[in-house]
Amino acid sequence: MTNRTMMQFFEWYLPENRLHWKRTAAQAAELRRAGINMVWLPPAYKGAAGAASVGYDVYDMYDLGEFDQKGTTATKYGTKEAYLSAVKALQQEGIQVLCDVVLNHRMGADGTEQVMVTEGLEENRGQDISGQYPITAWTKFNFPGRAGAYSNFQWNASHFSGTDWDASTSRKGIFRFDGKPWNRETDTEKGNYDYLMGADLDTDNPEVVRETQNWGKWYQETVHMDGFRMDAVKHISFAFCRDWLAAMREQKKDLYVVGEYWARETEKLTHYLDVTGRSLSLFDVPLHFRFLAAATSNGNYDLSKLFEHTLTETDPEHSVTFVDNHDTQPGQALYSFIPAWFKPIAYAMILLRDVGTPCVFYGDYYGIPHDGVAPVLELPRLIKIRERYAYGPEHQFFDDGSLVGFTREGDLEHPDSGTAVLLTDSSGGSKRMYVGKRLAGCRMADALGRVPGTVEIDAEGWGTFSVQGGSVSVWVTEPALEYLYLYF
Ligand code: CA
Repeated sequence: MTNRTMMQFFEWYLPENRLHWKRTAAQAAELRRAGINMVWLPPAYKGAAGAASVGYDVYDMYDLGEFDQKGTTATKYGTKEAYLSAVKALQQEGIQVLCDVVLNHRMGADGTEQVMVTEGLEENRGQDISGQYPITAWTKFNFPGRAGAYSNFQWNASHFSGTDWDASTSRKGIFRFDGKPWNRETDTEKGNYDYLMGADLDTDNPEVVRETQNWGKWYQETVHMDGFRMDAVKHISFAFCRDWLAAMREQKKDLYVVGEYWARETEKLTHYLDVTGRSLSLFDVPLHFRFLAAATSNGNYDLSKLFEHTLTETDPEHSVTFVDNHDTQPGQALYSFIPAWFKPIAYAMILLRDVGTPCVFYGDYYGIPHDGVAPVLELPRLIKIRERYAYGPEHQFFDDGSLVGFTREGDLEHPDSGTAVLLTDSSGGSKRMYVGKRLAGCRMADALGRVPGTVEIDAEGWGTFSVQGGSVSVWVTEPALEYLYLYF
């Protein structure tokens, strides 16, 4: 079995040239060669911002770049035809495709309605700050440009539970529609975090349940994806999401699904997994914030506790590890970008340990020209080491506050496998680590080339490895080093 490595194949500021799907298809073979076997694509349907939309401002989920709506037929990424070709090209290379699904909200309505609302406090949604009064809400979605193709369903205020804009007074607020309490089974941040943005879906309305399932089935039949990345699940009724996934699995049992539950508290993530019957994985957001803290503590972070009580530690089977994404990159809503010096360290940890499913960020792999962010140069090499050599039992040496490491014994199935990783957030040093008796007598070398020379593994399976200050060294066997030297 080859290790699973996911890539988030977009960043926020991709050029608005409608070529991304074509580029995805063109890069498919290269991604496979690089060791990527799962790709998460951005939301493919028409957003309110038309050709400039990244995809999270969902307007029409049946418009995959096919209808003249919001001033464009193609999306920012290209046409429906190019999208379907991209998915096929990836799958033909043996790469699984995850499609981004946004079920929380809709934006860019075609018309307004008068709706009775109660206004709530922005920071505490449970607290009403008004009596009932009417607003003019953007809640009518008729999709005139699509004219009933694929579905005749039209959305109106009865399908939503709230919005944040009164068009009659041009005023922003948290407006809860009459007779519609916020869903209690959502995140508890801000009192109740059902409402995020736009027109919020009323998941208690059976028509909404039916329509989102109908759409999901159409989407599956149209695209034949291998799984989903579920957007903003903390803002959506947990039971609704669980049931939606169950309906999708009636068509494809082995859908791989990862949800975005943006919370630093691991308890919230494990609670969500409990409630949804572990029918999906979640991004390990707590681990991302550990990386950020470690990278910004001037070498004073206690690395021995880095993984302590993260999702990766408590439920590795359902943890998708990542370093950064399109929301944490500079200029975005959840800005918390990991500083460049720490990136190779963080990637070595998510790619070479045997826990979690790592997700590599496009912006780290290719760079982010919009903000002058350079690619992480070590990344292709680390992915290749994961693909070929990071196998077998793991041994942890998280026994020091500033100098920690871990090893993999390797296995028979993967020639020349076995790795030793040593990293530090302060000054360099050495550590004796056990890599297993299988490698006794082998010589290992730093595949990142920072530490010269080789380390000989003794008869008991131990070696003494070194690392330079503020960096990571990744030790592989001599034949593995030769392979990497020739490959790159
Ligand atoms: Ca919601």
